[in-house]
Amino acid sequence: MSLQIYNTLSKQKETFVPMNAPQVNIYICGPTVYDLLHIGNFRGPIFFNLVRNWLEESGYKVKFIQNYTDVDDKIINRANQENTTSEAVAEKYIHEHKKDYSALEIRKADHMPRVTEHMDDIIQIIQKIIESGHAYVAPDGEVLYSVRSFNGYGKLSHKNIDELQAGIRVEVSEKKKDPLDFTLWKPSKPGEPTWSSPWGPGRPGWHIECSAMASSLLGSTIDIHGGGIDLIFPHHENELAQSEGATHTTFVKYWVHWNFLNFGAHKMSKSLGNVKTARSFIEQYNAEILKYLMLRAHYRSLVDFSEEGIQDAIHGLARFYSAMSVAESIVLQNVSGQEVAEFKSLIDKTRSEIKSSLDDDFNTPKVFAALFEVVRFFNGKYKRGQKVTPQVAYMAKEFLLLMKSRGDLMSLFQHEPESFLKSLDNMLMIKKGIKREEIDALIAKRVEARNSKDFKTSDQLRDQLVSMGISIQDTPAGTYWEISK
Ligand code: AMP
Ligand code: ZN
Repeated sequence: MSLQIYNTLSKQKETFVPMNAPQVNIYICGPTVYDLLHIGNFRGPIFFNLVRNWLEESGYKVKFIQNYTDVDDKIINRANQENTTSEAVAEKYIHEHKKDYSALEIRKADHMPRVTEHMDDIIQIIQKIIESGHAYVAPDGEVLYSVRSFNGYGKLSHKNIDELQAGIRVEVSEKKKDPLDFTLWKPSKPGEPTWSSPWGPGRPGWHIECSAMASSLLGSTIDIHGGGIDLIFPHHENELAQSEGATHTTFVKYWVHWNFLNFGAHKMSKSLGNVKTARSFIEQYNAEILKYLMLRAHYRSLVDFSEEGIQDAIHGLARFYSAMSVAESIVLQNVSGQEVAEFKSLIDKTRSEIKSSLDDDFNTPKVFAALFEVVRFFNGKYKRGQKVTPQVAYMAKEFLLLMKSRGDLMSLFQHEPESFLKSLDNMLMIKKGIKREEIDALIAKRVEARNSKDFKTSDQLRDQLVSMGISIQDTPAGTYWEISK
């Protein structure tokens, strides 16, 4: 089966056929740079990192663009509050965004254009829209898009134009010929950033920037346009009306929208004040936990940001890294491997399951389920401290190869397993209020009791550890412990 992608426009999964294979052009709406970004803002980039990698692995050549919105009321307000210019605010937060992006350890976009670099393109596309009869100029120089002039308005968000009309507040505006019409260009107020234009000095409305940047950098039709579901209406509906109004050709082949990261019952959002910045999350936990937290849910499902969810994600990652750390310790023993047919067929089956899951609208939960199957099998075949047979050596090597190569698609599972596992365990221990030294001391006491055949004490110590959430494995080579769920 070839790649199927859910298209918001048709509300169904469609076979992916790009305009000019093998080239695939992707544009996603990026951040407004007026503050540090919260972790919800990174759900899209984390998901699209996988989309891009998967398309490349599938033989496509991908051009991936994410913009910066550096002209916006929020930036202007921030500049006023801080007694500085909006250029300075944007510059500062673009810099901070780049730092967060690097800390996240995902691939950078091929290009991150700024609105201010594309003013000529914005003016040109507005001119085209006016020429096509889809926009008009108000007496004060504001340019408005005439929503009812565009036949397909509402087709992306599946909204009926008359319902829309009924749903909006009718503004008292002499400028607007119709309350649905929206701004393409407006005169700047004193002190606001301003550019000269055929309609007088002013600045662009929000929606036009993406139409202009997407077409000037990627052409009239782009293969994939992404954004959070909050952008379907009005932002993407308006982008579509603008671009198709200007070019009379399909703007986007596949509209891909990721769902929210929620905090309790609400979308994590700066304006609701319920945010955790990516920076503080990465400081407190790490980037891998954030990526795993996002990707273990399907991109079209909600992700809940909760303490329980985070702990659960750490446990899941620790299960992977624990098996990887065992495998690594086996590989380091340099025993030459001997093929195990059963394991080889499990790995082959897993690879093909991962392929079909990703081809099925990027079904990442199924990818992790398939990988967990292999972890379970591998854990069942070998316990720490046992003798490494050629069969075990083979399985360990193949298991690691699988984890690294499939993990790479999602920018996961590339850390040195033992030390990374330790850092995950430390987080779980903090949550349980226990210390590593305390556990090591209890284990040592128990080993002593066992050596002196004092099984009563040894059992008591085991019970004590279990009640602390620690599970123990006695092997010929010693006792190992893990944090249980
Ligand atoms: P903004 O700066 O609010 O325009 O958002 C930038 C990008 O982050 C957009 O693509 C939004 O759809 C996305 N976004 C914002 N909040 C969330 C959230 N809580 N969950 C997922 N995506 C979000
Ligand atoms: Zn946009």
